[in-house]
Amino acid sequence: MNTELLRGSCHCGTVKFEVRTAVVPAARCNCSLCRRKGALMTPAFAAAELMILQGEEALTLYQFNTRTAKHYFCKHCGIYPFHKTRTDPRLWRVNVGCLDGIDPYTLEAGVANGASLSLVEEA
Ligand SMILES: [Zn+2]
Repeated sequence: MNTELLRGSCHCGTVKFEVRTAVVPAARCNCSLCRRKGALMTPAFAAAELMILQGEEALTLYQFNTRTAKHYFCKHCGIYPFHKTRTDPRLWRVNVGCLDGIDPYTLEAGVANGASLSLVEEA
């Protein structure tokens, strides 16, 4: 995987971040939350690779089911820039659509079977 230093933001620009990660293989996820968001996510990377440059106070945390994954949203524009993963809480993924200069629609994407990680049916 080729990692590069990328900048990203939420839609309203309150939350800005820098991340060193590969963009491919990108993945969608079929869990109940991702299905509704439809976001394409980067491969997972270590927490130290993500730096929030501004707007940390605007981030709202959403958790469900096993409450292991941490999904962060901008409370102003509702955009979801990144989450801490369920499979390994030390790892994060960024929403490719939030990254500057990258068109998520040009990337080939697999589907992660997040639904299989839910302990509660239909959660
Ligand atoms: Zn925002």
